Amino acid sequence: MIVVESFADVRAASSGRVGLAPTMGYLHNGHLSLFRAARADCDTVVASIFVNPLQFGPTDDLGRYPRDLDRDAVLAEQAGVDVLFVPSVEEMYPEPPRLELRIADLTDHFEGAHRPGHFEGVAIVVAKLLAGCQPGRAYFGRKDAQQLSVIRRMVADLSFPVEIVPVPTVRESDGLALSSRNTFLSDDDRMAALTLSGGLLAAADAVDAGERDGAVLEALVADRIGSEDGARLEYASLADAATVQPLVELTVDAFLAVAARVGETRLIDNVAFSVGDDSVTVDRGVILEGPSVLEGS
Ligand code: AMP
Repeated sequence: MIVVESFADVRAASSGRVGLAPTMGYLHNGHLSLFRAARADCDTVVASIFVNPLQFGPTDDLGRYPRDLDRDAVLAEQAGVDVLFVPSVEEMYPEPPRLELRIADLTDHFEGAHRPGHFEGVAIVVAKLLAGCQPGRAYFGRKDAQQLSVIRRMVADLSFPVEIVPVPTVRESDGLALSSRNTFLSDDDRMAALTLSGGLLAAADAVDAGERDGAVLEALVADRIGSEDGARLEYASLADAATVQPLVELTVDAFLAVAARVGETRLIDNVAFSVGDDSVTVDRGVILEGPSVLEGS
């Protein structure tokens, strides 16, 4: 594995089918599963680590976002990454971009409503990574369900010649979705955080048992989080996966998304549903059997 800091060096080190997995670093098993998916079907695996200031709001956690490049380099190499791209802010933004990328409608609700400007910042950096690294495939986690929908739409609208590959959410053995921000959680926070995945997995079981009413599914999540003093719900909503609009009944492919604050930390999670002719398939993600690379760090 080589570590490079410029787009030109990424392209010089790439050949054959190139797979790109963009991240903000402080790697965990969710990121590693993107890298392994890319390793399985690409000749060159590029992973980027860039904490993108444009996607953080003024009260967000940009300043305290966890960073450890030496640790990340070891994990990335073990997961089969060929090129680790760690651009500086100056490489990514030699000048503040004048281009604005707003993905209408898909960003009206959920993360788009709670984090003004967030998806505009995500869209700019992902567009730059796709243009500069020129991957044939780019890998994104289902953990960020709205982000996946937004990026798919941007890639379609701009005719980027790249295939977007979704990767299932990786969870700790107790269900908690892996996130670099989990490193901020105290032991008590960690217990409170389990209400997000606990509520979602209960709603997933309800769907398996035949429930289709969005309000009922949302209440299963909201009530679970409401029962825990240490967690504050921001939203729990069933959303159409294509349009990212709220959904009253589970009649099309959808995700049930939640955001909550636990202590100072804002967490998001979701479970996804594929609607067939006479059945619904539930995607809860992948549960790790042993401890993740974040445990103890
Ligand atoms: P981040 O570093 O949080 O910006 O995430 C980088 C990429 O990893 C995004 O495509 C995320 O959706 C994905 N990702 C983050 N957490 C997980 C997880 N627990 N499981 C699968 N993918 C994830």
